[in-house]
Amino acid sequence: MRRCVSKVNFRMATLIGCQGCDMLVDLTAMPEGGRANCPRCGHFLARYRSDAVARALAYCISAAIALVIANCFAFLTMGAAGLQTTMTLPETAIMLYRYGMPDLAILVGGFILVLPALALTLIMAICVPLTLGYAAPWLVDSARVLYTLNEWSMVEVFLIGVIVSLVKLSQMAEVQLGYSFWAYVAFSVFFTLAVSTLDRFHCWQRIEAVQLS
Ligand SMILES: [Zn+2]
Repeated sequence: MRRCVSKVNFRMATLIGCQGCDMLVDLTAMPEGGRANCPRCGHFLARYRSDAVARALAYCISAAIALVIANCFAFLTMGAAGLQTTMTLPETAIMLYRYGMPDLAILVGGFILVLPALALTLIMAICVPLTLGYAAPWLVDSARVLYTLNEWSMVEVFLIGVIVSLVKLSQMAEVQLGYSFWAYVAFSVFFTLAVSTLDRFHCWQRIEAVQLS
């Protein structure tokens, strides 16, 4: 009886609902490196790579190292009229707080540092047990929180905002980019790769397979 229920659940896990038009699509046999789009509206559904979890873990560790470096050095130095100011990445949020914008400081600190760091921790909490084939009790909750958080991750938006601000600032003051800026660029790239490599549909399938084994 138990075996029968497991088979039914596994069969259900091959179906994915399109977020564009709600069509249910069966992704039972996806080839290596394959990408699935909705046959009705063309919305992206999933991509499959057998080594996706190991790749996501490698990108995640690289992103974590880059994020630590980004917090240790100067982010940028501005000079105008003989005055020079050097700012680290956490100071961007602290300065907003000091200038009387605590709500904006919390949002900036949350979106550029806290949420990405939490997302990296969750990716590691998912990828390490999946790589070892161990059904960790936190897998389902971690995946649920991770895929909710991803919709609020604004790493790329922050970076584009910084670049636009730098172009504007360079017309008024002398701006020098620090090691931290380039480390944050590297972090953004690795973070985006980690998140996009850990395909939502196949991540849930791997979690289910580990729990059923
Ligand atoms: Zn669709």
